[in-house]
Amino acid sequence: MPATLTEPSRETPVFGEYDVVVLGGGPAGMAAAVAAARAGRSTLLIERHGFLGGMGTAAGVTNFCGLHANVHGDIRQVVHGVADDLLARIERLGGLNTPHHLFGKTVAQAYDTAAYKIAADDLLLSAGVQVLFHALAAGVVMASPRQVKALLVETKSGRMAVVGRCFIDGSGDGDLAAWAGAPYEKGDGAGNMLYPSTMFRINGVDPARAGEAWKTIPDRMLEAEAAGRHRFPRKTPIIRPQKSGIEWRVNLTQLANAQGNAMDGTSATELSEAEMLGRRQIAAVAGFLREVPGFEQSYIVDIAPQVGIRETRRVTGHYQLTESDVLGCASFDDTVGVNGWPLELHLKGDVEFRWPAIPESRGFNQLPYRMTVPLGLDNLWVAGRCASMSHEAQSAARVTGACFVMGQAAGTAADLALTADCTAREVGITALQSRLIEGGAYLGTTW
Ligand SMILES: Cc1cc2nc3c(=O)[nH]c(=O)nc-3n(C[C@H](O)[C@H](O)[C@H](O)COP(=O)(O)OP(=O)(O)OC[C@H]3O[C@@H](n4cnc5c(N)ncnc54)[C@H](O)[C@@H]3O)c2cc1C
Repeated sequence: MPATLTEPSRETPVFGEYDVVVLGGGPAGMAAAVAAARAGRSTLLIERHGFLGGMGTAAGVTNFCGLHANVHGDIRQVVHGVADDLLARIERLGGLNTPHHLFGKTVAQAYDTAAYKIAADDLLLSAGVQVLFHALAAGVVMASPRQVKALLVETKSGRMAVVGRCFIDGSGDGDLAAWAGAPYEKGDGAGNMLYPSTMFRINGVDPARAGEAWKTIPDRMLEAEAAGRHRFPRKTPIIRPQKSGIEWRVNLTQLANAQGNAMDGTSATELSEAEMLGRRQIAAVAGFLREVPGFEQSYIVDIAPQVGIRETRRVTGHYQLTESDVLGCASFDDTVGVNGWPLELHLKGDVEFRWPAIPESRGFNQLPYRMTVPLGLDNLWVAGRCASMSHEAQSAARVTGACFVMGQAAGTAADLALTADCTAREVGITALQSRLIEGGAYLGTTW
């Protein structure tokens, strides 16, 4: 079989022309699209699934991290703006938990996936964003080496081109940026990316008997392994009740390829293998859970629609956020908001957290605008887990809170670039920061 074949050239229909084209409906893409549309820009968001939320819904995450930080011993919400508008909608639908404490150091906030999907639709529609679901972006057409002209999408109506003046890559995988020729990194330099996991939820738990089972399950896992009854893909389970205590979310799988490395979310074959491996691990974990008091009658109510990918490409921008920025609670002149989550490294067989000094520090680092601007491109921004961060820093600022921040900044910056007729790199920082504050964002300049 030949290694390649030549496709015939083709005339591709243009779906439409927009001021701002956003790829990806995760927290970064949603916040970017809402910010651009609210500024009056014609905005199209392209998403391969039939719903919004990114990993937060498609991978069954069901939990917001990074909205809060431990500020000198005080837990405070540090991400606002577009995020608040989404939270309020989820709350109105009765789908938002009160924040729960973690490690005695911070909090996270669980939500119901169905409510998230409904709330996100409403948020985008009310902002005036046009959404194209079931559209898989597959390539770009460049106007010049520094300028993206169109994004090519495969849909049920066939292949189409979406022409834009500005593009925001919220794909999580840096697909658009990579096709446009932006430089990127993968993993820690030795081929290790954060391991993916498939999330699932169980129902039928007896809340009274289960109690605070998340505290005892790690020891039960050790016991079960020592007795030879079970083998777990990783230590450090994340198992917690949803709003109704009969339903719990389980984050305990770890998906490695035949070489033992993290399955690669940009490899078609590894994605396929990961889906089946995840479900196999889930069947085993669910069997173990039925041995835990209160979980005897539990059953798998939902397996996430897709494998949860934590890290693939990290696009290189004008600044790369580092581990010491996160642990040292760094400040930047071009701050667009903050990350309040620690390093959370999903390493082989385990999860390792590294925290800034708590309560001595303010517990968050600022996020510089430059990490959303890829090198070598003038009309492209990258927001979310594929923005410019080192492998270690990405393990922190990949969580939802920071993705909202980067998205809102990129969408607002695209509007400013169009008004000033300038490149992404040239956007005026003072104007950007005032607009973000007007949009309700917290830039991390107090405390
Ligand atoms: C198992 C797991 C557990 C996690 N737990 C938590 C947690 O408890 N709390 C927390 O806050 N965070 C958690 N995270 C991290 C967090 O959910 C993600 O990092 C975050 O959602 C990233 O947001 P994003 O917008 O950058 O990208 P994503 O959420 O990945 O969204 C990208 C979107 O782009 C779409 N897309 C990608 N490529 C294309 C394409 N070519 N064409 C069309 N559409 C495309 C995808 O379908 C997706 O909807 C977890 C992640 C995983 C995998």
